[in-house]
Amino acid sequence: MNAPHAFLDTLSDSLQQKLHKLGLLSDFDLVLHLPLRYEDETRLSPISEGVPGQVAQIEGMVSEREVLTRPRRQLVCKLHDGSGTLCLRFFHFYASQVAAWSPGTRLRVLGEVRAGFGGLEMIHPKCRVVQAGMGLATALTPVYPVTAGLPQRTLAKLIRQAFEHVQQAALLTEIIPEAVLTTHRLPAFEASLAFLHRPPAGTPMQGLQARTHPAWRRVKFDELLAQQLSMRAHYRQRRSHRAPVLHRPDSLLKALLSSLAFTLTEAQRKVVAEISRDLAQPHPMQRLLQGDVGSGKTVVAALAALQSIGNGFQAVIMAPTEILAEQHYQKLSVWFAPLGVSVAWLSGSQKKAERKLELEKITGGLAMLVIGTHALFQEPVQFDRLGLVIIDEQHRFGVSQRLALRMKGMEADGVPHQLMMSATPIPRTLSMSYFADLDVSVIDQLPPGRSPVVTKLIDSSRREQVVARIREACHAGRQAYWVCPLIEESEALQLQTAVETYQTLNQTFPDLKTALIHGRLDSHEKSAIMAAFSQGAVQLLVATTVIEVGVDVPNASLMVIEHAERMGLSQLHQLRGRIGRGADTGICILMYQQPLSEVARKRLQVIFKHTDGFEIARQDLLLRGPGEYLGTRQSGVPMLRFADLEQDADLLEAARAVADTLLRDYPQQAQWHMRRWLGSRKDYLRV
Ligand code: ADP
Ligand code: MG
Repeated sequence: MNAPHAFLDTLSDSLQQKLHKLGLLSDFDLVLHLPLRYEDETRLSPISEGVPGQVAQIEGMVSEREVLTRPRRQLVCKLHDGSGTLCLRFFHFYASQVAAWSPGTRLRVLGEVRAGFGGLEMIHPKCRVVQAGMGLATALTPVYPVTAGLPQRTLAKLIRQAFEHVQQAALLTEIIPEAVLTTHRLPAFEASLAFLHRPPAGTPMQGLQARTHPAWRRVKFDELLAQQLSMRAHYRQRRSHRAPVLHRPDSLLKALLSSLAFTLTEAQRKVVAEISRDLAQPHPMQRLLQGDVGSGKTVVAALAALQSIGNGFQAVIMAPTEILAEQHYQKLSVWFAPLGVSVAWLSGSQKKAERKLELEKITGGLAMLVIGTHALFQEPVQFDRLGLVIIDEQHRFGVSQRLALRMKGMEADGVPHQLMMSATPIPRTLSMSYFADLDVSVIDQLPPGRSPVVTKLIDSSRREQVVARIREACHAGRQAYWVCPLIEESEALQLQTAVETYQTLNQTFPDLKTALIHGRLDSHEKSAIMAAFSQGAVQLLVATTVIEVGVDVPNASLMVIEHAERMGLSQLHQLRGRIGRGADTGICILMYQQPLSEVARKRLQVIFKHTDGFEIARQDLLLRGPGEYLGTRQSGVPMLRFADLEQDADLLEAARAVADTLLRDYPQQAQWHMRRWLGSRKDYLRV
């Protein structure tokens, strides 16, 4: 679109390099480099009407000028305009300025008026010597994000030139159908950009600064649309692959369901149906299953796996930690054995001979379900016929890991179906934007009989009370977790802290059976400890955050988390989700150490007040913003510069609908739009 003769190409190399630093790689990027704010140089205010705290442009005559050395070296000029006197202070200045601003000179200054010692003043105002016939600006002056060596005025000129260039080349033509614009009351694209770069005199500042002006909304809509288009195009492209058609094996599913000690919740039944329908399609499922901690995703995964297996295709379940993978292995082996389905187990720490045996079962098609940690895919695993890949706790995996997994599945039968499961609920606006390349199912209900966990916040200086509570609970036959502080900087230090905590607690509780579990233990040690805890042979389990995901021991009803102020909200929610799974009310004690940072205090308030994972996730998003919230995912997804998911939720909905229409009915316009917005950004969605 930009190709044959870009304005950018006419610039010197050094100028281009500076633009690159701002991420401006095409004419269009320049045009979309929108002001951070504006200055109003369209009118003059009399000094006497200056209001402290407000920005004003004032013109007057220099009456005094002196360089003071006390209390700080500074240049002070007195300006007066007949209505009053304004004092200008400069702590950094050049000799040339001292010379130019001699008494009698007329100056036009723009800056924030302040109440000074001896009247109104401005510190470091923008200053210009008034030349004969120098009129006022006719538009608000844009203030752009700049970089070193590229002054505001130069950048503004480049943007203006680039704008004229693309305008002349007819590259700003309207792409969005008229009807859509009318419905959402959006102004034309070209006019919106022209307006934002040069709002006419008299435009109220409020809507510009808050970015609620219709011109801003148009730009945000187009940005959201570009994101939707790229995600949806990607979704469609993956959907164009072939996948094995997996019919629902009714008797097999019934056999599993009737062997369970519970019946599915309404919410589970709904998502099972959604998944089952996808699997029967001739193109690969790409579904994200969200369900709060404890909502019962495992059985949903098991049913999906059975649908694959019932059609003669293998299924894989991949988990982020060894403990979790092992737990799935044990649970599913028990569920599947009576159905005559054999399960293979792969882990990173497995002995060579054992691994070889398991691999043979997989390659030969003897094992129909394969469970393991992601280490499972670090070396090639040859499947007989792979129909479905299930990724538990998907948020723990990076995009690249997901990709690697999919590539291995490319076989004669087509691409395997994919089910990603996440216990970190994704707020609706996020799942509509950054996860728009997936179909989403939500389990929005917990199994019956759960009582919410009671959360307590306790200052770490009151450790004795916590200790007493644990002792009491364990003597009454309950079990407890003690979660060690997270030390992000160093795994070695984290381990050391865990070992020390364990030793201390062992001395504190000579009467209890305690054990320590952490990520460095080998899988046999880990599973032996988890088994002992499950069976009640261990009463107090001291653990690092390895128990964060998935671990399921219903009799454990008490949890202490040390230095809770260091942990993120989703991590705290996950940890807390380990308890309250049995008959007793779960109690989670969050110990924190003063002083608390503002963010830490807010996080603790959120986790204290809320138990609903979706609400916690929403609060988390508000505290952190989407970039940080998304973590690994963001690398492959176009990020948003202008739109704000909360504020612009209505535009997001509209963009979603329009994206699908454009892709279907106006594919060329869709391509143009993506090229405009994302063309120069090479890293956009390649998942
Ligand atoms: P998560 O969604 O966190 O992975 P799990 O699948 O581990 O949750 O399930 C949590 C617990 O709830 C398990 O002990 C599981 O057997 C049990 N469970 C799952 N579904 C139901 C149900 N419909 N009724 C009662 N208990 C259930
Ligand atoms: Mg789980």
